[in-house]
Amino acid sequence: MPAGKMCPECGKYTFITTPTGRECSKCGYKMVVNPGPGKGKKCANCNKYQVFDGKCRNCGASYSF
Ligand SMILES: [Zn+2]
Ligand SMILES: [Zn+2]
Repeated sequence: MPAGKMCPECGKYTFITTPTGRECSKCGYKMVVNPGPGKGKKCANCNKYQVFDGKCRNCGASYSF
């Protein structure tokens, strides 16, 4: 069972991270994270500059040392 944050909609701790933000696995409530100003690092998988904190927001690839 994935550890999620509290869903603003249904209040359950099933608000899990997705490539585009978060989604509640209970009620389906979605949150999309805007990359905001500036680019992330280039993703080797999808070639978009969407890698933030070791994770690609476009395709969901994760990077680690
Ligand atoms: Zn929910
Ligand atoms: Zn990617």
